[in-house]
Amino acid sequence: MTTLANSNLPESSAAPAAATTGEIEAAAKKLVRRGDVAKCPVCGVGIDPDAYHCAKCRNYFCYHCRTRLLSTDTQVQCLNQECDYYAKLVCGVCDLPHDKEETPSVYAEPEDGYWPLWLVISVVVGAVTWYYSSFIVGALVAAGLHFGGGFGLQRCGLNIFGRERRVTHQRTSSFRTCICCKQTVKEVGPGR
Ligand SMILES: [Zn+2]
Ligand SMILES: [Zn+2]
Ligand SMILES: [Zn+2]
Repeated sequence: MTTLANSNLPESSAAPAAATTGEIEAAAKKLVRRGDVAKCPVCGVGIDPDAYHCAKCRNYFCYHCRTRLLSTDTQVQCLNQECDYYAKLVCGVCDLPHDKEETPSVYAEPEDGYWPLWLVISVVVGAVTWYYSSFIVGALVAAGLHFGGGFGLQRCGLNIFGRERRVTHQRTSSFRTCICCKQTVKEVGPGR
């Protein structure tokens, strides 16, 4: 649905929860930019109220709170052309990060069983049986104990022959939203 008032605006497809122009204007009215917007917060020279960079001292600063921005600081720009903060440099404290739960990654991790120890026990029991009986009986007892008993123990929950463990890794990512229009913003790298 397009009203007459904003029919000439471009359709924005990137915004998941696109605020209407009215909502943005209301938010912008509530937002009060801190400090003297007509002065550079670093050197104090008179500058354009829309600026976030001082031509005299060559410093960048947050458009909203006027904190000086070093190239290593987090700095973001709003991509919403309808927003008052569009393309303005804003610090990472004004445009706070939000955590987003990602689909957890699940993978199977092999877990070694206790079969070597179990083999030693089976062979010892087989050897003792061989001593009192015959080699054939001893071998049968050892094999029967190792495989039959081993599977029995495995079914009881003891890890004899190895198994796979399901490992779930919870993943989160973070994104920042514009202080004014609440849409996702672009993080600007240190080189700007
Ligand atoms: Zn300056
Ligand atoms: Zn700021
Ligand atoms: Zn914005």
